[in-house]
Amino acid sequence: MPNHDSTLPTAIDADYLVVGAGGMGMAFVDTLIAETDASVVIVDHYHAPGGHWTLAYPFVRLHQPSTGYGVESRRLGDDAIDAVGWNAGLLELASVGEVCAYFDQVMQRNFLPSGRVDYRPVSHYEGDGCFRSLASGARFQVGPDCKIVDATYQNVTVPAMRPPPYAIGDGVRCVTPNALVGITDFPARITVVGAGKTGIDACLWLLKQGIAPERLTWIAPRDSWLIDRQLAQPGAQFADATSLTLIGTVEAVHAAISIADLFDRLEACRRLIRLDPAVRPTMYRCATVSMAEHTALQRIGDVIRLGRIQRIDADKIIFEQGERPVTVPTLFVDCSADGLEKRPAVSVFDGRAITLQSVRTCQQVFSAAFIAKVEAMPLEAADKNRLCRPVPHPDTDIDFLHTTIADVENETVWRESSVLQAWLATSRLNWPRDIGPALPDEPVARAEALELRHTLMAGIAAKLAALLE
Ligand SMILES: Cc1cc2nc3c(=O)[nH]c(=O)nc-3n(C[C@H](O)[C@H](O)[C@H](O)COP(=O)(O)OP(=O)(O)OC[C@H]3O[C@@H](n4cnc5c(N)ncnc54)[C@H](O)[C@@H]3O)c2cc1C
Repeated sequence: MPNHDSTLPTAIDADYLVVGAGGMGMAFVDTLIAETDASVVIVDHYHAPGGHWTLAYPFVRLHQPSTGYGVESRRLGDDAIDAVGWNAGLLELASVGEVCAYFDQVMQRNFLPSGRVDYRPVSHYEGDGCFRSLASGARFQVGPDCKIVDATYQNVTVPAMRPPPYAIGDGVRCVTPNALVGITDFPARITVVGAGKTGIDACLWLLKQGIAPERLTWIAPRDSWLIDRQLAQPGAQFADATSLTLIGTVEAVHAAISIADLFDRLEACRRLIRLDPAVRPTMYRCATVSMAEHTALQRIGDVIRLGRIQRIDADKIIFEQGERPVTVPTLFVDCSADGLEKRPAVSVFDGRAITLQSVRTCQQVFSAAFIAKVEAMPLEAADKNRLCRPVPHPDTDIDFLHTTIADVENETVWRESSVLQAWLATSRLNWPRDIGPALPDEPVARAEALELRHTLMAGIAAKLAALLE
């Protein structure tokens, strides 16, 4: 019988307690149970697996191909090329419905039937191996040898999780993007607050509904460097375009004489793109757009760059750097949530704690599976940490340099392990491997091609480090 006395939790027997059934927790458990005999308890606040996706706005999609998202053992989508819409010609992007259904299937068809996963939704992890059911109040405790996996460290925040971080006066109509789809009385003006991925999605959704770009205002505290999604596609049909950009990037980095010059050159070879040629971006967060989406977004002419909003009143918006009158009925759409924030790197393996973080830029689920693979290897913690050096989520333009260097350094260490190389060669989550020129199948030629690719990347990293100095 579960214990309802708050001082005496019921003992639970497991090798791992995973806190968080979001993408990272799910990807970690999937690889862990494939690579070991371990038993796992998964604890999560929410009623279903998928983490922030379970609260997402209804029109959100992945912004990277479904091909490489989710967990290692189960495919997401059909690797289809979209035939219609603003992503036409590119690999499909799962909708939020697909992502949530996918994680539910992973839980119901893979994890639970394995007999080694004990899933505790609607539960709160309290610390020290102890968690509490939010429904019954019963408390549970794992033993001292159970490893505790923190799959919450990325601290993803989506708009539905919190009120806007600015004051809102009486009579101001401000909604989350989740509420947009239910609105049938759009006023004369719609103001989208935030220029990250969520703001981009909200603008595109409004434009798709036929709302004229002249009715939109876009509040962009910072402009962002973006990735042309066509150049972030794995596979032979995209190899010509992605190879050209790869060569262009190598040339751009080697030719750059300053960081400003580097970004000019990266833009010239299309490694990075921006929306307004007159405004130099200071943000970089791996957001991708198709060129059709890019063109659509450029139709929004009223972009306000006065810093963050401090307060919205019925007659004016107060920014960090000025004010703007509100003269017509306006709907504000709050897209200012951080998504993935840039968190300080901590050791992934520390005693019985495992803290999941990216070990490759903007590849969270790959990283979680990779960490599980390393956890399953018979190594000391120091060696595991050497293989799993965190790459904090980028935020500023300069982070483009830091994350590129960190990625190359990690790949260099991974090359020392034939076990990891074998795993990386077949991992479905390691999809960036197939961006650029196709690797030959023949083992010797393949090894040579990989060596050449690595040498090129190492050269880039060395030059970027010099530019940073
Ligand atoms: C709009 C958007 C689009 C994205 N698109 C892509 C994409 O195309 N490709 C890609 O690779 N990545 C994408 N990402 C990144 C994405 O966030 C990661 O891939 C991944 O989903 C992050 O998962 P997570 O497990 O780290 O976090 P979360 O999804 O936030 O999961 C954390 C879980 O921990 C639980 N939790 C927290 N504290 C506790 C506690 N004390 N007790 C119990 N449970 C707790 C929460 O309930 C939650 O379920 C996107 C992100 C956003 C916001």
